[in-house]
Amino acid sequence: MEPYAFYKGDFMPLSEAKMGILTQSLHYGTATFGGIRGNWDSEQERFCLFRLQDHYNRLLYACHILRIDLPYSHQDMCQLTIELVKKSGYRQNVYARPLAYKSSEAIGVKIHGLENDFLIIVTTLPPYLDTSQGVRCCVSSWRRIDDSMIPTKCKITGTYVNSALAKTEAIENGFDEAILLTQDGHVSEGSGENIFIVINGTLITPPASDNILMGFTRDAVMKLAKNELGIDTVERSVGRSELYQAQECFLTGTATNIAQVVEIDRRPVGNGKTGKITAKLQEIFPDIALGKNPKYSDWYTMVYPTQ
Ligand code: PMP
Repeated sequence: MEPYAFYKGDFMPLSEAKMGILTQSLHYGTATFGGIRGNWDSEQERFCLFRLQDHYNRLLYACHILRIDLPYSHQDMCQLTIELVKKSGYRQNVYARPLAYKSSEAIGVKIHGLENDFLIIVTTLPPYLDTSQGVRCCVSSWRRIDDSMIPTKCKITGTYVNSALAKTEAIENGFDEAILLTQDGHVSEGSGENIFIVINGTLITPPASDNILMGFTRDAVMKLAKNELGIDTVERSVGRSELYQAQECFLTGTATNIAQVVEIDRRPVGNGKTGKITAKLQEIFPDIALGKNPKYSDWYTMVYPTQ
């Protein structure tokens, strides 16, 4: 089976989608990407694209900042993604990766007056973090970039050097994931996930002002905690030592879903097992992700494969 891409205005086999080595965004990180989950429902024989509209709102917000003008509307981008997933031929969870980028081949660091383009690829989605034993985290020696350096509320490719440095350091030091602090020492987020902790029954997550990416899984978890479990989430700055005080901790993200953290800096979180609130959220989330709860129909785009 040959995967497809949408590239240079057309659908084509992924192997034919090649880019020039002078492409400006390759040199300077002047691009923005999305990561959209398509959950395969084997009973209904369909994909549920989770929060497709929101992902393109975020991508277009980054395009606005990076001055990437494209001939595609929000609706066009959603429709192209649906078409590509339909064509892809996969019958398992997929991950759609749109990229809006400076396609100009002119050398020079700037964002104005350059050509732009838009592409999408679809690939399969193996579990991003292994949750079978729980996730072991460290606090990174790298600090999370500040919104005054590169906008943190959208997925600008250059920003991910920060995440990649932290992730590799964590893995090479024997951990599964890194937790990054802000410059002033507050907990920000994982290298590719938002973070929640539970202290004495209160569910807490860092606020937008602590340079987090405003994750859609984070948003879904806060709504589910409230509507389904009757638990409010407190958005407030979190100190590093509160990570060691927490009875529960979990990470959220499109690729990750909800991953329980069982150890931080070699200290067990709570009793070192999945906490109660975390377990309840993990229990209800799969049906939500498959689009089975009509209460959250705004989050779902159903796609029936044509291949
Ligand atoms: N933070 C970072 C740095 C991320 O890359 C991601 C993944 N997109 C998240 C948080 C989680 O965001 P979302 O739930 O929208 O995938």
